[in-house]
Amino acid sequence: MLQFYDQNWKSAGYQSAEEEANYKEYGKTILTRFWEIHTADFRMPIAVERQFYIDIEGVKLRGIIDRVDKLESGGLAIVDYKTTQELFTNEALRDNLQLTLYQIAAEQTWQLPVEKLTLYHLRSNTPCSCSPRGEKEVKEAKRLVVEIAEQIARQHFPAKEGPFCPCDFPEHCPYYRHKYDPALTAPAQKEILCGTTVEDAVEQYVSLQQQIKTLQMELEELKEKIVALCQEEELNRVYGREHALTYKLVETAGFDEEEVRAVLEPLGLWDRVLSFDQGKLKQLLSDDGLAKEIRDKLEALRRVTSCSPRLWVRKLREEE
Ligand code: SF4
Repeated sequence: MLQFYDQNWKSAGYQSAEEEANYKEYGKTILTRFWEIHTADFRMPIAVERQFYIDIEGVKLRGIIDRVDKLESGGLAIVDYKTTQELFTNEALRDNLQLTLYQIAAEQTWQLPVEKLTLYHLRSNTPCSCSPRGEKEVKEAKRLVVEIAEQIARQHFPAKEGPFCPCDFPEHCPYYRHKYDPALTAPAQKEILCGTTVEDAVEQYVSLQQQIKTLQMELEELKEKIVALCQEEELNRVYGREHALTYKLVETAGFDEEEVRAVLEPLGLWDRVLSFDQGKLKQLLSDDGLAKEIRDKLEALRRVTSCSPRLWVRKLREEE
């Protein structure tokens, strides 16, 4: 097995020879351990790297299942090997759409029921298994496939940046196109913002933002000193050469919720002062104690209620 591994090793994609050597060694360790654990009860799988095509309500889906075993009971077990860092939680296993789609594909391909789904964590040689999906989960996965296919057909697939970006298509990505698309990086395209280059405009924006931050801090510091002087000297106004500053202690009045409730509730008026609180709803949605069904129902009600342009500053690393 290790000889086969050596002969089929692909060197492409590593940052350095050292990195490649480390990964290759790590792969050997994983395989050796895999062999030690599984050689005693090894059974020939019924399929390995099996390509499938399925049709979900007219949507054609293609995929490759790592491994399918036939169980003593006559049913099937699906295994997907993963090289991820972390072991899979029960929740991750339960929500894994890939396994659901593999189950649909395997049942269509072999006309046998799937009885076990496994994500195999290679780094620790741990199989994380769960029962097959029920009718409801299968129906939900199919609905999701159809919905996403419709969005793709409508050209609606907004980019979602993740830890492994940029991918192999940065020239098509709204996050990276400006840096990688030759049409945008060409010198002729650079002067586009009021006579200045975009690069300069970005740097100018960040520099102004920093200056504002510094000025705001200075302003706060000065305000504290002037207020302290007015309080110490019992002054309501201090004078400069061309301006004067008036000092006043502005009080903000409010009501204690419990006290007001005690008055209004018996009169049936309490509901009239209650209003819907988006912040509290967000808190409720992030509460682990909330049943998934209720959370999904609420999430399905999420709508865009306002939209405003914002800019986030990102510091580029030297090598970028
Ligand atoms: S770089 Fe690729 S993966 Fe990342 S957001 Fe853009 S298109 Fe998506």
